[in-house]
Amino acid sequence: MANTTHDHPVYVIGGGPGGLAAAAALRERGVRVVVLEKSGSVGASWRGHYDRLRLHTTRRLSGLPGLAMPRSFGRWVSRDNVVRYLERYAEFHELEVVTGVEVSRIDPAPGGGWLLHATGGRELTGSAVVVATGYNHTPHVPEWPGRDTYPGELAHAAYYRNPRPYEGKDVLVVGTGNTGAEIAVDLVEGGASRVRLAVRTVPHIVRRSTAGWPAQATGILVRRLPVRLVDRAGDLMCRIAAPDLSARGLPRPTTGLYSRVKEGAIPVQDVGLLGAVKRGAVQPVAAVESFDGDKVVLADGTRISPQAVIAATGYRRALDGLVGHLGVLDGRGHPVAHGARTPPKAPGLYFTGFTNPISGMLRELAIDARKIAKSIAAAHRAARPASA
Ligand SMILES: Cc1cc2nc3c(=O)[nH]c(=O)nc-3n(C[C@H](O)[C@H](O)[C@H](O)COP(=O)(O)OP(=O)(O)OC[C@H]3O[C@@H](n4cnc5c(N)ncnc54)[C@H](O)[C@@H]3O)c2cc1C
Repeated sequence: MANTTHDHPVYVIGGGPGGLAAAAALRERGVRVVVLEKSGSVGASWRGHYDRLRLHTTRRLSGLPGLAMPRSFGRWVSRDNVVRYLERYAEFHELEVVTGVEVSRIDPAPGGGWLLHATGGRELTGSAVVVATGYNHTPHVPEWPGRDTYPGELAHAAYYRNPRPYEGKDVLVVGTGNTGAEIAVDLVEGGASRVRLAVRTVPHIVRRSTAGWPAQATGILVRRLPVRLVDRAGDLMCRIAAPDLSARGLPRPTTGLYSRVKEGAIPVQDVGLLGAVKRGAVQPVAAVESFDGDKVVLADGTRISPQAVIAATGYRRALDGLVGHLGVLDGRGHPVAHGARTPPKAPGLYFTGFTNPISGMLRELAIDARKIAKSIAAAHRAARPASA
């Protein structure tokens, strides 16, 4: 007898690069797939990123299955061109994308497959589901004591677009990931009167490319090597890339580069931070500890009064409401299985984009999309009656 579950489409939740890539790979295999996107258009995350952002992974190594990024985008693709590419990608693959639909919860469907609860009381049954709601889902600002009564301007980096509102201002950027590092440089170039960068863990800073060889390519080569070995090589790379700026408040990192990647912190690609610190244009300061009235209290006891604070303090996956009740998340709220593997308790429920690999996330999303599509297509074939 036919398994009717497989008459339902596959639902992909999220119309970012991960969701679109999975949908395209599924269509390529003849599987009916619908993408549900909560915002009004595909590529919502990229539309919201700051103006000067460019991919730090190369165009060639950032394309999604079935459509390369055009050469005219150059080697380091701009934010606007990433958005253009994603729009074109959905059109080119004739993807069925339903916008304005937010999925709030996934449950097992009574007859098999998955029941999606979505905007407006919609209940949709999918033969399988791919969750692609993004690693950078919900901006996270630490619960610093005194934060909620701080009278000054405090915003997460997700809301930063360009330096114009900060011209002539004294700004503290908190966090030294790629975003914090780049925003600090943007502020200097955009005319902020003073830029301080609060450093909790000294980052590994590498050159985006050396003699034409991109840092991403090294990441791809070393990603399966032992962590300690890569830590040692990474240390050497950073020493070559970065001058010792201890005197300027940015000492060398004390943790291993790859050990940090395994904890979710990829190295910072230098887009001007080293030069700015060396010139004294960006001043590294100790980590933020708390707020006391209108003062920011740093870990070394210093109290400072910037006119604006930008928290480049990362994001949360925010998967709890969606799938937390299914026992598919680990202690950090990350899915226990990823890519083509599904959690033991939830066959047919796939997750993509919930790691931060050294080899480039877009590249990994593309690889996972193909694997997920292969796995779902095989399950559909197996469920079909022999005569079909
Ligand atoms: C500033 C920045 C720069 C980056 N630069 C690079 C780079 O250079 N190279 C690289 O490889 N990677 C980079 N990344 C990492 C990664 O490639 C991107 O974050 C990428 O957008 C991830 O794609 P995604 O589809 O997994 O998630 P997203 O692009 O975040 O897409 C998720 C989508 O899901 C939608 N959504 C969320 N929840 C729901 C719901 N419940 N129901 C329906 N829809 C929902 C969102 O609206 C969004 O459109 C960068 C990330 C950031 C933040």
